[in-house]
Amino acid sequence: MRLSRYFLPTLKEAPSDAQIVSHQLMLRAGMIKQEAAGIYAWLPLGLRVLRKIEGIVRDEQVKAGAVELLMPTLQLADLWRESGRYDAYGPEMLRITDRHERELLYGPTNEEMVTDIFRAYVKSYKALPLNLFHIQWKFRDERRPRFGVMRGREFLMKDAYSFDLDEASARIAYKRMFAAYLNTFSRLGLKAVPMRADTGPIGGDLSHEFIVLAETGESEVFCDRKLVEMDAPGHNLSVEQLEGVFNERTALYAATEEMHDAAQFEAQTAEGDRLSARGIEVGHIFYFGTKYSAPMKAKVAGPDGQDTEVHMGSYGVGVSRLMGAIIEASHDAGGIIWPDSVAPFDVVVINLRASDEAVSAACEEAVAKLEALGKDVLYDDTDERPGGKFATADLIGVPWQLTIGPKGLADGVVELKRRATGEKQTLSLDAALELLT
Ligand code: ATP
Ligand code: MG
Ligand code: MG
Ligand code: MG
Repeated sequence: MRLSRYFLPTLKEAPSDAQIVSHQLMLRAGMIKQEAAGIYAWLPLGLRVLRKIEGIVRDEQVKAGAVELLMPTLQLADLWRESGRYDAYGPEMLRITDRHERELLYGPTNEEMVTDIFRAYVKSYKALPLNLFHIQWKFRDERRPRFGVMRGREFLMKDAYSFDLDEASARIAYKRMFAAYLNTFSRLGLKAVPMRADTGPIGGDLSHEFIVLAETGESEVFCDRKLVEMDAPGHNLSVEQLEGVFNERTALYAATEEMHDAAQFEAQTAEGDRLSARGIEVGHIFYFGTKYSAPMKAKVAGPDGQDTEVHMGSYGVGVSRLMGAIIEASHDAGGIIWPDSVAPFDVVVINLRASDEAVSAACEEAVAKLEALGKDVLYDDTDERPGGKFATADLIGVPWQLTIGPKGLADGVVELKRRATGEKQTLSLDAALELLT
């Protein structure tokens, strides 16, 4: 991608109403544009990162056995009357009336609709266990949309829903998602801690929030320090291994403000391991039994031929919020530092003198070779000054910067900089390509 042909509207200064660094940097890096309170247009650079995050979230869901579908954003109010939530949900729900005076709503979540899909088709326990997920825009009319995409009104969520014949198997489905979430956040370069959470309006008795620790987080959280450094559990785990992963973590204290019990925290955690901090909720999982299947009559015939209500869980990830969380966790004074896994481009090739044909030819050769290696390349072919180019490259956080100028060209070398460490090396193009593979 040639920067001269791209659309990267970077800003020198962030607008003064952007209070936290991730929001400031997303605006400065030309990733999003606010269209209304809590409603954003995703500009090309922001969209690239959003798609990368979405891809990792999807891949880990599929690896954990979930099946993707796509439900609409608009839902019928009558469906929500069946579960009793239409009136209970309150002013966060955006209610809409169509030309026939039918009451609709812009989905804030999808338990009712997925239960409706399930009950229309699944009649036997033989189809279970089943986990259906989608990645779709949600709308919640938040009282205080703020911090950019962190608390938007329109936001992208991955939500999965599990269906099981009984509570025991539903709890296994829950633990499978618990492990999948640990893998997901680790691939996104985040340390996310599962914490006991309130089940809130969704109800039920088993729930964890996945929290990324950050000073700008909206929740106050308390946990054992050891949880922060635990490795991701990996894939294809047996039920015993899943239980192990779940038990190992839940044995350590971790709770959000609403669930915090100071006495228990102190009893359970050595003083040096007690961490009280602020955190960002990036995921939330629930087991809620038959809360929806009972009123909505989602039943399957069991092995004995008797109809039984299915046991369900739901599993949300804030895909768009994650972008803010990643930036909060990974930036410096110069701008964003993307983890390789979600970077909008792998490498930016910086042409220090675009007016020089030989330099431009060398840059184009480097771009072609990088692309042949499968790299996503941004080529800064503009006639901006070198200082401005370096500042832009740092701001947008591309993991590698490969710079070619007239002097280096004469010496047969390029400069390669690692954005995360600032480390620079001068080497031949071939040696640089070698390092990047
Ligand atoms: P919060 O406590 O931040 O309001 P929530 O508990 O209401 O979030 P859930 O219903 O658990 O959210 O939704 C699943 C996930 O969707 C959350 O863990 C979060 O990552 C994301 N999410 C929720 N609300 C928003 C929002 N307004 N903007 C962006 N992401 C959101
Ligand atoms: Mg909320
Ligand atoms: Mg919450
Ligand atoms: Mg939640």
